[in-house]
Amino acid sequence: MPDATCYAQVTVTLPLSGPYTYLVPDHLRPHAAVGSRVLVPFGRRTVTGYITAFAPPSKKMRVKKIIDTLDPCPLFTPGMVPLFQWIADYYIAPMGDVIKTALPGGLNVVDRQVVSLTTSGTRAADDPACPEAEKELIDILGSTPVPLKQLLDSEPPIPRSLIKVLENKGWVTVTRELSTARARAKMETVAEAAAGPLPKKGVTEKRQLLLDFLRVHGPTARADLNRKLPSAKSTLGPMVEMGLIHLSEDRVERSPLGEEIVPDTPPSLTDEQQQVVSTVSAQLTSGYATFLLKGVTGSGKTEVYMRLVEDALAAGKTAVVLVPEIALIAQTDRRFKARFGDRIAVLHSGLSDGERYDQWVKIAEKRVSVVIGARSAIFAPLTDIGLIVVDEEHDGSYKQESGLRYNARDLAAVRARMEGAVVLLGSATPSIQSAWNARTGKFKEVLLTKRVNQKPMPEIEVVDLKKYKDLPGIHTFLTPRLVEAMTQTLDRDEQVLLFLNRRGFSGAPICAHCGEPLKCRHCDVSMTFHKGVNAFRCHICGYFEPAKTHCRICNGHKIKLLGSGTEKVEEAVKDIFPHKNVARMDQDTTARRGSLLKILKGVREKQVDIVVGTQMIAKGHDFPDITLVGVICADTALNLPDFRAGERTFQLLAQVAGRAGRGDKPGRVILQTYVPDHFTIGCAVDHDADAFYTQETSFRRALAYPPFTRIILVRIADKNSGRCRTAAQKLSGLLWERRPDQGIAIMGPAEAPLTRAMNRYRWQILLKGESPSAMKKMITDALAAFRKEGGFSGVSISIDVDPYAL
Ligand code: ADP
Ligand code: ZN
Repeated sequence: MPDATCYAQVTVTLPLSGPYTYLVPDHLRPHAAVGSRVLVPFGRRTVTGYITAFAPPSKKMRVKKIIDTLDPCPLFTPGMVPLFQWIADYYIAPMGDVIKTALPGGLNVVDRQVVSLTTSGTRAADDPACPEAEKELIDILGSTPVPLKQLLDSEPPIPRSLIKVLENKGWVTVTRELSTARARAKMETVAEAAAGPLPKKGVTEKRQLLLDFLRVHGPTARADLNRKLPSAKSTLGPMVEMGLIHLSEDRVERSPLGEEIVPDTPPSLTDEQQQVVSTVSAQLTSGYATFLLKGVTGSGKTEVYMRLVEDALAAGKTAVVLVPEIALIAQTDRRFKARFGDRIAVLHSGLSDGERYDQWVKIAEKRVSVVIGARSAIFAPLTDIGLIVVDEEHDGSYKQESGLRYNARDLAAVRARMEGAVVLLGSATPSIQSAWNARTGKFKEVLLTKRVNQKPMPEIEVVDLKKYKDLPGIHTFLTPRLVEAMTQTLDRDEQVLLFLNRRGFSGAPICAHCGEPLKCRHCDVSMTFHKGVNAFRCHICGYFEPAKTHCRICNGHKIKLLGSGTEKVEEAVKDIFPHKNVARMDQDTTARRGSLLKILKGVREKQVDIVVGTQMIAKGHDFPDITLVGVICADTALNLPDFRAGERTFQLLAQVAGRAGRGDKPGRVILQTYVPDHFTIGCAVDHDADAFYTQETSFRRALAYPPFTRIILVRIADKNSGRCRTAAQKLSGLLWERRPDQGIAIMGPAEAPLTRAMNRYRWQILLKGESPSAMKKMITDALAAFRKEGGFSGVSISIDVDPYAL
């Protein structure tokens, strides 16, 4: 009678419900655990799956066997299974998608069909009677097998029937092949000298040399050996045969490149910092609670995080620190590494698949106790979590905006509750949602009201752009007031930061003849001109048009480059300050690996005098010599059709302003805007977060927006505009039929703010209500009915629970 651990529940990474029961063969049982990645037969294919439990099948049935286990250790902990289940339920997603989203990329083993030439096939090509088409295919195949899909998708496509013909003649074979996953353990061969005395026979001088080398250096990787002792290439084999040297396979760790980091000495805390640390630390031994740390920019929040992580480790627990995307990681991870050394693992998008995999395995094998990373680090396979820190908790990058649209900030609280950990959300400008949770007592509030060493907040001066709109060219955005302040700052040998939330050269190219904007062919947005590559580019789909293009309406050849982006500002600044070093920091200049770190280093070491950048420069950097921040245009995001536009603008302005005057010298900010009287701008200028929250909260309450309601957005997209609309109307009708008498509002269907993207038309339906579970039930039922309907098979429907942007 087999015991229960013979049967594994396996969730496969396909959009299916599952899990499915498999038998664990005896030889795999030592390696199979909850969280193990396995290969399983599924229908006629072989797919990747994950063990989520051990239990015999519910009814008598034939079960298939697990083919293999794939990693040195399980990739998630048993404690994470309930988290995955919670996510699947909350975000209305299949469990397989949840696990795939949670784990590092590149893990999927792909089962594919390949076509290879047989010996008779090779000979057939020489036969003059062989038809041309068949000859061509034989040529394409050559000596290496080619994936079937590649042949079918080639240009022009190879017909399936032609392959069949050759298969029937015995010239080609079609077989299944597993392509290995991109992320896997890297192995190397290690040579080690055997113990014991040497036999006198057969040990030449070269062989003796090899043996001596290994005795001195200890076990050595074969690649290193070949490099350091070239004669080893020929001597190693015979020595292994003689039993004088042993070979073994060892796992090597790929570690992300980085500079040498000098360990730091912790400063003594300010009274305020000490107060916060004591309050939060006291909770570490009493289980789940969420704290909201409101701390002005430069108040030393990171130091507080590090002390609390230290306390968690001292209590025998582990810690996760989430930071917003890569810009911040470049700096925060240095500070944490300097404090925690090799007790830390790092997870972010700047790592290669292999590096990320190795960091992941290091965490799963409990070789580190602190994980720092971007949003996906919330899924780090740690056990005994004591503390989860979410730095800059208001930041939009915690929300994943494709596939499974989860919010890592919200998941931090969910995971902490399940594991009895403490959450610390930190921000100078907390989200309205978190501020509200603090006000209503759901979160405990802790404060840092002063900058470290009492440095004052920078003074903010408002410049009304309307007054300068008739100035020539670049002076409409580099106003005389700003240029004057820049000159003074640079003369004192201090640094300037200019912020503009638009990359490229011109964001509004229009036809000089008819005034028509130059739009993308595939999306309903203006193209952006990029001078660096001398072309127009779509920021949604990447579509590219050379600079010498023409108006699609009147065929005019003169395109006027209105609207400015970071490239235009950079060019203008170089014109005005030809002897200063200018660096631009945006998605275009930081796309290449390592380039962001290089720019940041340049700023830190003062090789750069002026930095021009997008919101990438707003976040978290601590550059003591930046004493002037210029906001080129504060209102770019203010007029978006989104209830969070004001919140986002306020946060961004406060964050950018916070970059000024972090060192010993006082900082100042010049904020340029067309709407100096707007209350969002006013609050930012006064550094008055409380006033902003009061006003914004009453506005949200009046219009019944979050945090007073919950929103679920249903997005409908299709290539055909008519079908997209019909589908949206149909789905909306099905939702109305299922709407309870009260408590849920259905808005739409309406065209999405971006009406077409990547050739797909977009509609949306917005559900607003107080009970997310009631809304979700409605959606699940309506979707089931919609799918039964038929006729909408190509239409894509995606569900966004608690959308960040509408
Ligand atoms: P925040 O994250 O709140 O913007 P940081 O943690 O970056 O602030 O701190 C700002 C600067 O003050 C950093 O250079 C940091 O090293 C320094 N700092 C923080 N705490 C202290 C302290 N207690 N004593 C001296 N310097 C400190
Ligand atoms: Zn486009």
